[in-house]
Amino acid sequence: MKKKIISGVLALMTGILLIGCGANTQTTSDNAQKVKADKLKITVSIYPLQEFTEEIAGDKAEVTCLVPNNVEPHDYEPKAQDLEVLTKSDAFIYNGLGMESWVYKVNDVIKDKKIPIVESTKGVEARKEENAIDPHSWLSLKNAEIQSENIKNTLVKLDEKIKDYYEENYNKFKGELESLYNENKPKFEKLNKKNFVTGHAAFGYLCRDFGLTQKSVENLFGEGEPTPKQLEDLVKFCRESNIKTVFSESLASPKVSETLANEVGAKVVPILTLESKEDDKSYIESMRYNLDEIYKCLENE
Ligand SMILES: [Zn+2]
Repeated sequence: MKKKIISGVLALMTGILLIGCGANTQTTSDNAQKVKADKLKITVSIYPLQEFTEEIAGDKAEVTCLVPNNVEPHDYEPKAQDLEVLTKSDAFIYNGLGMESWVYKVNDVIKDKKIPIVESTKGVEARKEENAIDPHSWLSLKNAEIQSENIKNTLVKLDEKIKDYYEENYNKFKGELESLYNENKPKFEKLNKKNFVTGHAAFGYLCRDFGLTQKSVENLFGEGEPTPKQLEDLVKFCRESNIKTVFSESLASPKVSETLANEVGAKVVPILTLESKEDDKSYIESMRYNLDEIYKCLENE
């Protein structure tokens, strides 16, 4: 009899548990769907903007980057089907400063929909080199603050009800950018040597932040390998400036950087332009790596 009661109770409990589980599963999957539907869909042009947007949006947005991983963005030109993702996006964020010569195509695709097109470098002081505007704004920690603020303002406009969440994430990220800058500024000021040699002229804004000068194997747009004459000039520059490190970028003629380094007896050290996703480092980690490596190279020369 006792046994019967116990198994009856057990059966009853199991039943309740099953009902409970069933109900829970239902709710969880409903929530998951709801969250998914609630997430903003943001499309960005280049990888650093994905980093900035994800820092601020956290898990509240799905960020799609148009330029695929490991693709040199200066050579990128979207095909019509690449731009289709834009029609289902809540906003399109691009760099500006001439980085996306194809941005007019985006206008064509989404002009009839009310999808905001955001130029993230609005408010960044552009620098010129050889009469061209330097597009590599994101390699400056100071510019990264401005670009992230523009992105944050966009997210707030799209999703006003969680404004505080975006503000908080932005302030946290801004704090990280500022502390990395403040940590490095006095270090670079104390150095006598200010010149370094890299793959393509991507570090002009970083140089502006820290009072440095770059020489590069390729130009601002990562175009064309140097002519024999240009290479000869670089070799001369490296010898005169006693350059012991040549930075190499995986997407900009790493072979030429190697040749140059061999010629002048320098070592080759990788540097990160963040133009495309190459590894699992965050933006801050990549910038810390770059600044540490540039500092080591200048300190030892
Ligand atoms: Zn570049």
